[in-house]
Amino acid sequence: MTDEEIPVLIVGGSLVGLTTAMLLGHHGVPSLSVERHAGTAIHPRAGHFQLRTMEVIRQMGLEERVRAKSLETYSPTGGIIAVESLAGRELATYVKELNEGVEGFSPTVRVFINQDALEPLLRERALELGATVRNRTEAVAVDQDDDGATVTLRDLDSGDERQVRTRYVVAADGTCRAASPSTSAPTAPSCCATATKASSTCTTRSCAGSSGSTAVAATASSSSTPSVTT
Ligand SMILES: Cc1cc2nc3c(=O)[nH]c(=O)nc-3n(C[C@H](O)[C@H](O)[C@H](O)COP(=O)(O)OP(=O)(O)OC[C@H]3O[C@@H](n4cnc5c(N)ncnc54)[C@H](O)[C@@H]3O)c2cc1C
Repeated sequence: MTDEEIPVLIVGGSLVGLTTAMLLGHHGVPSLSVERHAGTAIHPRAGHFQLRTMEVIRQMGLEERVRAKSLETYSPTGGIIAVESLAGRELATYVKELNEGVEGFSPTVRVFINQDALEPLLRERALELGATVRNRTEAVAVDQDDDGATVTLRDLDSGDERQVRTRYVVAADGTCRAASPSTSAPTAPSCCATATKASSTCTTRSCAGSSGSTAVAATASSSSTPSVTT
């Protein structure tokens, strides 16, 4: 007997987890994201988002909010250079102008926006689309069977544990960290959601391969997943 049932349980409420929750919500699939931190990112981390990412954000109805937030910190025609010091010599130009050469390829634009500014917008949109996000909650075990998985969640404030029954688990829990210490990997076809690791860390499937113990396999589709460049 479990305490709760949800079609998709997402472990991790950062860029990948919140984006997955938002996309599932957009397609009418209820999800529960659990995140051990009290809120979204507090450090800037990722800061430059490519056209395809912005196209997905646009499809989710979030483009205007993201572009407006970006403008609070960055010039939309900014670039990336190396300088000796803030008042010193320019040493190198990495990106002269963020959108130079890509005008006309997309209805949207590349933006600079820091992760701690973007994540609250992803979260807000995911909630608007019907997702549930639960902070200070850790997934501590995933037990898979033929029909889905039973995930044990721990409330990090009270220490209370509850069990959630789900058809799919998405490991959006960061770099090569298994979603659970006590799991077995389902086969890829059982996945309904896309969760690819942003940047070059690893895919959840390769995490499963390396740890041999994650409850998640996810399909990475380059046409529908966000990308983050360093
Ligand atoms: C210092 C630093 C600087 C960076 N700079 C850049 C940059 O300039 N450009 C760039 O593109 N990228 C940068 N990155 C990388 C970028 O931040 C990551 O690619 C991105 O955050 C990955 O998102 P994610 O959702 O996969 O994982 P994460 O952001 O790692 O999120 C995983 C989340 O899962 C939660 N979690 C884990 N296990 C559990 C569990 N069992 N139960 C509940 N919650 C759990 C964690 O608390 C975490 O919030 C940087 C990273 C760091 C650390």
